[in-house]
Amino acid sequence: MNQDHIKHNAVKRLASGYIRLLLTILALLPILLILYIDSETTSDDVFIAHTFHVIAITMAVVVSAFLSYITWRCYVATGEVLLKWLVFGFWGFTIVYAPHGFLTHHATENVWLFTLFGPASRLVMSFCFLIAMLKFGEMVKPEQTNSKGLWFATAIFIVINLVVYWVAKSASLNLNWWRLLAEYVAVSMFIGSVLWMLVQRIKGYIPLLYSIAMVWFALSCWSFTIGSVWDHQWWLAHIIFAGGFLLLSFGVVQAFLTTGSFKTIYSQSDLFKQIIQEKKKTEQALMELQQVNEKLEELAATDPLTGVANRREFMSRAEEEMSRAHRNTTDLCMMVIDFDHFKDINDEYGHQAGDKVLKEFVRLCKEIMRPSDLLGRIGGEEFAILLPETNLSSAAKVAERLRQYIEESSVVVSKQKITMTISIGLALYQPKTDTVKKWLHRADELLYQAKDKGRNRLEVEQLREPSD
Ligand code: GH3
Ligand code: MG
Ligand code: MG
Repeated sequence: MNQDHIKHNAVKRLASGYIRLLLTILALLPILLILYIDSETTSDDVFIAHTFHVIAITMAVVVSAFLSYITWRCYVATGEVLLKWLVFGFWGFTIVYAPHGFLTHHATENVWLFTLFGPASRLVMSFCFLIAMLKFGEMVKPEQTNSKGLWFATAIFIVINLVVYWVAKSASLNLNWWRLLAEYVAVSMFIGSVLWMLVQRIKGYIPLLYSIAMVWFALSCWSFTIGSVWDHQWWLAHIIFAGGFLLLSFGVVQAFLTTGSFKTIYSQSDLFKQIIQEKKKTEQALMELQQVNEKLEELAATDPLTGVANRREFMSRAEEEMSRAHRNTTDLCMMVIDFDHFKDINDEYGHQAGDKVLKEFVRLCKEIMRPSDLLGRIGGEEFAILLPETNLSSAAKVAERLRQYIEESSVVVSKQKITMTISIGLALYQPKTDTVKKWLHRADELLYQAKDKGRNRLEVEQLREPSD
C-alpha cells in the first residue's frame, strides 16, 4: 500500500515534470522557425504584399482595442492594478502600432516611417507589461478605479507617435541603430517580466499563458532584429507576435468570462482539486442535513412527553394499516383509551404526577402490546392502539387484559401510590365503508358508552355479522 503510494507520487511528479517540459518547448518553439528561416532564406527573398499587410495589421489593432476594453472591464470589476497596466499595454500597442498599418503604402518612399512604429509599439507594450507584472498582487478598491490614468496614458501614446514620426523623418539619426535598440530593450523587458514571475513564484493558469506569450513576444522582437522589411524573417516575426498575442488574448478573455481576475483563474488541475474539496464539503453538509431531517421527522411524529406517536402520526399510520388490511383482507382493530377522572389525579397529586402517570401508562401498555401494535397519544390523556391482523374477539381480550393490568398497577410519586383506571372503546375496521375518521369516531362513541356505564370498563363494537 505504502509502496504503491510512493510509486503513484513518483509517477505524478514525472507527469508534472513532463507538462513543464512541454510548456517550455512550446514557449521556445519559435526559435526553431527563426533559425530555420534564417538559414534557408536571405533578405533578398521577399514577399511584398501591401494589402495583406494592411489587413493583418488592422486585425491586430482591432483585436488589441477590443482586449483593452475587456481588460479594462476586468480591472474595474476586481481592482487588480496589474490589469490596469495590461490595459495600458494593449491600448498603447493599439495606438502606436496602428500607423504601421496605415503607412504600409509609404513603405517604398519612406521605409523608416513605415518601419519604426513597429519597434516603438513593442517597446511600449513590453514596458507596460513589465510594470504590470511588478504590480502583481497590488489592489485598489473597485470604486477607486477611474479612467483618468487611461486618458493620461492615451495622451502619452499619442506623443510617442509624434516622436516616432519626428525621428523617422530626421535624416541625421542612425535609424537602424535606434530600431535595434528598441527591439533589444523590448526583448529584455518581455524576458524581465517572465523572470520576475519565476522569482516571485507567480503561478496560475493566466500567468502561465502570460509568460509563454511574453517569451513569444521577445522571440518576435529578436526575429524582427534579424529580418528586414518584406523578407521572410520579417513576416515570421509578425506571425510569432500574433501567436503570442492570441495566447494572451485567450487568457484575458477567459478571465473576463469567469472571475475577471488575473490572479484567481485556475488551471484545470486546480479546479479539479477545488471541485473534489467542495464535493466533500457538500456531501458532509448533505449527510448532516439528512440526519437533522430524520431527527426533525422523528420529532414531528412523536409526542414529546411519552415518546409514542402523536395524533398526526397515529392517523397516518392508521391509514397505512387500513390499506394493508384491505389489501390482505386481514382484520384490524382500534382501541381508544381514556383515563377515568384524570383531572382528579392532577388535582390531588399535581400536574407533574399526572405526567408521570401518563409515561408510566405507556410503559405498561408496551408490556401488553405485541411489537406490531401501534400506540399513539391522540389527546391529552387519551390514547389509541392499533392492532393489525387481530380480530375483534382477540382484540377484546387484549383490551380487557390491559384494563385490568392498569387497574392493578400503581405509580409511585413522592412515596405516594397513585392508582388509576381507564375506559376503552374497541372497534373493528370496516374496509368497505370506513375512513380513518369514521372508524375513530365509532371507537370514540364506544368509549363514551363505557364512561356512561360507569367507567373502568371496555365497550366492544357489536357486529351484525361476526368476522370470526
Ligand atoms: P373522564 O373520566 O370523564 O375522562 O374525566 P377526566 O377528568 O379524565 O376528563 P377531562 O377531559 O375532564 O380531563 C382530562 C384532564 O387531563 C384535563 C387535563 O388537565 C388533563 N391532562 C391533559 N393532558 C395532560 C398532560 O399532558 N399532563 C397532565 N398532567 N394532565 C393532562
Ligand atoms: Mg378522562
Ligand atoms: Mg379525556
